[in-house]
Amino acid sequence: MALIVQKYGGTSVGSVERIQAVAQRVLKTVKAGNSVVVVVSAMGKTTDGLVKLANQVSTNPSRREMDMLLSTGEQVSIALLSMALQELGQPAISLTGAQVGIVTEAEHSRARILHIQPQRVERHLKDGKVIVVAGFQGITSTAELEITTLGRGGSDTSAVALAAALKASYCEIYTDVPGILTTDPRLVADAQLMSEITCDEMLELASLGAKVLHPRAVEIARNYGVDLVVRSSWTEQPGTRVSSPTPQPRSLQDLEIARPVDGVEFDTDQAKVALLRVPDRPGIAARLFGEIARQNLDVDLIIQSIHEGNTNDIAFTVTTPILKRAEAVATAIAPALRNSSSQGEAEVMVQQQIAKISIVGAGMIGRPGVAAQMFATLSNAGINIQMISTSEVKVSCVIDAADGDRAIDALCQVFQVSKDAINSVSPPVAATHAPSTPVRGVALDLNQARLAIRQLPDRPGMAAKLFGLLAQHNISVDMIIQSQRCHVIKGVPTRDIAFTVAEIDAEAAQRMLEAAAVECGEIVVDSAIAKVSIVGAGMVNQPGVAARMFAALEQHQINIQMIATSEIKISCVVAQEQGVTALQAIHAAFGLAGNQKIQLPPA
Ligand code: ASP
Ligand code: MG
Repeated sequence: MALIVQKYGGTSVGSVERIQAVAQRVLKTVKAGNSVVVVVSAMGKTTDGLVKLANQVSTNPSRREMDMLLSTGEQVSIALLSMALQELGQPAISLTGAQVGIVTEAEHSRARILHIQPQRVERHLKDGKVIVVAGFQGITSTAELEITTLGRGGSDTSAVALAAALKASYCEIYTDVPGILTTDPRLVADAQLMSEITCDEMLELASLGAKVLHPRAVEIARNYGVDLVVRSSWTEQPGTRVSSPTPQPRSLQDLEIARPVDGVEFDTDQAKVALLRVPDRPGIAARLFGEIARQNLDVDLIIQSIHEGNTNDIAFTVTTPILKRAEAVATAIAPALRNSSSQGEAEVMVQQQIAKISIVGAGMIGRPGVAAQMFATLSNAGINIQMISTSEVKVSCVIDAADGDRAIDALCQVFQVSKDAINSVSPPVAATHAPSTPVRGVALDLNQARLAIRQLPDRPGMAAKLFGLLAQHNISVDMIIQSQRCHVIKGVPTRDIAFTVAEIDAEAAQRMLEAAAVECGEIVVDSAIAKVSIVGAGMVNQPGVAARMFAALEQHQINIQMIATSEIKISCVVAQEQGVTALQAIHAAFGLAGNQKIQLPPA
């Protein structure tokens, strides 16, 4: 007999009829010989309604009282669903977060789950009952037994955490869309359903994936190897399987907070090629990487920092065996990239003996302190960071190869990663059915802003200082890009550093950095940006993927302002008003469009 956890979102239990339909589906699962634990959200827009009420009473309601209020929504739906099941003759019992023993930190409105006490659930399951659990809520382990909530959308997280704690066979997330789509169907009409995606890919598609699945739920699924399925509660369609390779065994204590980093990776076989002072106009990256792809050369990181004047610098890394050929391509193309405005031709710079060192783990999202700690660790070891590449599941730094061993030792110690768990470049595992296209999905994020810090001294500790400050204020940083170009100011070599944050954090970040009097030139904010990203485990070791993305942008005369990559993601920053066109062009360029009609709920 299998144990299955099913989670039903707000619209799936939005009315009496819907609750009855859910009860039928649960019953069918039981009749097929399974034990079932059901997790539900509040009915329809109940939670939004409660937030509105609170705002009418107080302009600044306390987070504790908000939790008290919002947790009531789920209590309504669990009782009704339990009754509906009993009406069908199915024994059932509803339980609040506290009653199922979901113990959380004492952080109101954004508590993370520490552990789950499964005894009561197990007892009721033995009695043949369906257990209906209130999602989104938990209880503190302090004497006060405070009610907490996990943050908006948190019922997914309750469900996957329960599945992990109960060692369920799998967890089904029922929602009002057919599964996870290749992109946002409201912006791209021919978006298609994916049959499968890995947890890492899902996390990298952050701005797309988060609308369907709470990212913390995906983190737990990845860390504990919970098989997840996202599907519609209106149909019998199979939906999207969200899979992950079998993880290393992990304790169920401190479920959501233990070990945000579970691996350190390094690659000493890298070299960097930089093209300095290429013109800042559409088509340059497409041309360069198009030529590199034609030579069938595989590039690893690609970084383009923000322009200075009317030129850009583009840098990329390759493995040493192909360095000579990559350099030849760059040198051959440089004269053709002459900048009209008298700055002369692009200059090619090659650097060998560099190493890429990365921390890997699913617990970094929303925890800016983790990347900051990596930078601080390198800085304390006196190691200068030459390039930074960040993604949702990995932060990589390019450093001098001679510093490699010291960097590994320090990082393993700080993040408690045993030295046998170190991987020298393990390619990410693609899902079992290799997709016909290397790209799985395309995401657009219109809610980011860019901060550019000019002329920051280039010495160990600067990144640690900057991102440590931001982390202290709980500001999460997305792309971080350091310029290749170096200006010597009063004898001190300086570089620019640009990074993106959520638009709502941009001003605070700027003010804070100014107040901290970090020694640097001006700090400029631009919120009229859009970030488009392609994600897919299939792009590893596949030359030409970046070139295809850049060419799609060139075709629409879209200028690329910044480029950042990780193994399974390539992101470009473009002007905000070109974001949707960029998304559509890229989605089409990778053959993701289809003609299967996607049923969407009314907006
Ligand atoms: N009811 C909560 C919310 O609307 C939690 C959830 O639905 O996942 O955010
Ligand atoms: Mg949801």
